[in-house]
Amino acid sequence: QWIYLNEQFVKKEEAKISVYDHGFLYGDGVFEGIRVYDGNVYRLDEHLDRLYNSAKAILLNIPHSKHEMTEIIIETLKKNLLTNAYIRLVVSRGVGNLGLDPKSCPKPQIIVIAEELTLFPKELYKSGLEIVTVATRRNRPDVLSPKVKSLNYLNNILVKIEASLAGVSEALMLNSEGYVAEGSADNVFIVNGNVLRTPPGYIGALEGITRAAIMEIAESLGYVVKEEPFTRHDVYVADEVFLTGTAAEVIAVVKVDGRIIGDGKPGNVTNDLLEQFREHVVKDGVK
Ligand code: PLP
Repeated sequence: QWIYLNEQFVKKEEAKISVYDHGFLYGDGVFEGIRVYDGNVYRLDEHLDRLYNSAKAILLNIPHSKHEMTEIIIETLKKNLLTNAYIRLVVSRGVGNLGLDPKSCPKPQIIVIAEELTLFPKELYKSGLEIVTVATRRNRPDVLSPKVKSLNYLNNILVKIEASLAGVSEALMLNSEGYVAEGSADNVFIVNGNVLRTPPGYIGALEGITRAAIMEIAESLGYVVKEEPFTRHDVYVADEVFLTGTAAEVIAVVKVDGRIIGDGKPGNVTNDLLEQFREHVVKDGVK
């Protein structure tokens, strides 16, 4: 496996960064997770827009154009002979001194890792997930916006830890006002009849690229899609609940905090959307 590291391809075992990198020392940097389906990089432009906007928000200047970044990604896939893959694109502030000030970091480090992905086992897409809600709160949108996909993922990690302490593999976090925000690395939808609801960005959710795709697909299928705040109660009593994300794609949730959702099996709307999504991803990419 070859890793792209600052203008070079190096073997996985040799892909190392300095302990003085501010991404390591302080979580100072941004990243994206991107999927490749049958050689198509799925919605790469949207991922690059989000990456560059995240970088802009933290005053991190990425020394490559989006076009150059596209070429780097394509090269990395070619070098690894991958046509179905998960790509992790990381831009860290770079090597500096021990102070916080990024002025000591003249050059951001660019890392591209591409590998085959297994997130949830196949069976889980048929049976659905059991999840919980956790005490960890989404960071407030008035501080560092949750729209910034930064290397500071402590909240999200705490969500995962709380989930696993509760014996489940995923969880939902609320915002500081108690509205449902999102999962550890995925967005949430609830379904009632033919109406889908997902929390708006201002509640404190990352505006997921899979979320946007599902909203488009759902609308094209005649469902009504609303970006609206909702509470845990709304989740408990929904007909269906599902999560979306680059890694997870679309996965049904069948139990939340011990409450069985619908009849405890992935619902028709979720199954319909997953099927349509899988057909759509292969067509909608950059060669
Ligand atoms: N929310 C968070 C916090 C994430 O890290 C991710 C993953 O990128 C998502 C939601 C889902 O977004 P996307 O569909 O763009 O992968």
